[in-house]
Amino acid sequence: MSNHDIQDVVSLAKRRGFVFPSSQIYGGWEATYDFGPLGTEILRTLKNLWWENFIHRKPNVVGLDSAIISHPRVWEASGHVDSFADVMVEDKKTQKRYRADHLIEDTLNIPTDGFTPQEFDELIGKNNIKSPDNNELSQAKYFNQLVEVQIGTTSDTKSTAYLRGETCQPIFYNYGLVKDSMRMKLPFGVGQIGKAFRNEIKVGPFFFRTREFEQMEIEMFLHPSEASEQLETFKTESMEWLTSLGISKDKLKFREQEFKERAHYNKIATDIEYSFPFGWKEFQGIHYRGDWDLTRHGEFSGHSFVEKIEETGEEFVPHIVEYSIGLSRLLLVLLSDAYTKEEDRLVLKIASHLAPYKAAVFPLVRNKPEITERAKKIFADLNLHTPTAFDDRGNIGKRYLSQDEIGTPFCVTIDYDTLDDGTVTVRDRDSKEQIRIAETKLVDYILTNTSV
Ligand code: ATP
Repeated sequence: MSNHDIQDVVSLAKRRGFVFPSSQIYGGWEATYDFGPLGTEILRTLKNLWWENFIHRKPNVVGLDSAIISHPRVWEASGHVDSFADVMVEDKKTQKRYRADHLIEDTLNIPTDGFTPQEFDELIGKNNIKSPDNNELSQAKYFNQLVEVQIGTTSDTKSTAYLRGETCQPIFYNYGLVKDSMRMKLPFGVGQIGKAFRNEIKVGPFFFRTREFEQMEIEMFLHPSEASEQLETFKTESMEWLTSLGISKDKLKFREQEFKERAHYNKIATDIEYSFPFGWKEFQGIHYRGDWDLTRHGEFSGHSFVEKIEETGEEFVPHIVEYSIGLSRLLLVLLSDAYTKEEDRLVLKIASHLAPYKAAVFPLVRNKPEITERAKKIFADLNLHTPTAFDDRGNIGKRYLSQDEIGTPFCVTIDYDTLDDGTVTVRDRDSKEQIRIAETKLVDYILTNTSV
């Protein structure tokens, strides 16, 4: 079990520039967050690592960067307009809305995934369940999660469109264009990193569930006979990648979704869950979507997605195996996992290749110009190679603590000996051990110990 709760992570994230409540000067905006300078650095690193690992290194996977607002028919074809819905109940007095499944699970401690509004009404009636404010609840009803936007220049020409509810739909409707322009042969994949939007009824904790979030997805198009092998490949590669990010293995697990909780398009759905301070929760899904997507886009657009195997003459619509991870949720996994309270300090034990700064350079004292100048030169050299911080405030102990909190793997101190013999002190974040190395070897040392 972790020795901290999510509020500890919230406060560190805000105080040290990882994640801010959005629009704070206007009183904040529910469940919306802005990533601060240090959070942004980790997100950029994650995106690059992911792209390299899952797209660049795969000869049969290419990338896409699609529009956020696409033709509204896309979301009719995908089934989201009709069935992208949670069941909601409303407090009759306060008008606060709740997800029926969360309310029942909290009260009765039974799983209710996939229950219909009628099933929820029965449970609420039979068990006399009230709202958290102890008021009567309304009848349960479906609540569509697509975020609508009005597009057009004048009020009478405006039409309704949707912000994408998942990044994969544009991958599906671009299937033919990607395949022909890139001369891809089945099986092949298309990956995308980008924002998705969902009108979630229940948000939080912190930025675990928000209405605007970023996903990293790959859709593998294949013959149905290749699906189970691809599912296994994604499972293995996912765990390998997640553990390469330094996430504790014992806090990660697979969970097969039951039939009732699966989305309308999924034949098989495996979640990867992390043991957050608020319990085991999903942050990645691996899904076998069958031929649902291309068949539906075929029906709604009139475009044919049928492929033919020359040798056998077999015709089929490509099936899809999907890898989908929430980038922002992954950042919450990493911050929760790295947050470590020790007796005398708070350390963010994040993998060194993910740390926002790989090193920090300190002049031992401020009143000795030769030391300050030398420190600034060493900082400038190192910063050319890797993100580096410079700090000359307060005493050395406080500077160490300040870098520990933001996960800087190495602190480099320039002192009187540096002026004499050209060596510097390098202090390790996790062990607190200090070694002395030649200034000329510093760049190599930091790069070697902070690369993947
Ligand atoms: P949940 O059950 O948590 O709402 P989901 O099963 O609907 O998620 P998917 O549609 O499979 O999620 O999306 C894939 C991934 O996208 C999730 O594993 C999660 O990391 C991320 N994700 C989905 N919804 C949100 C959200 N509202 N806020 C942040 N991340 C999200």
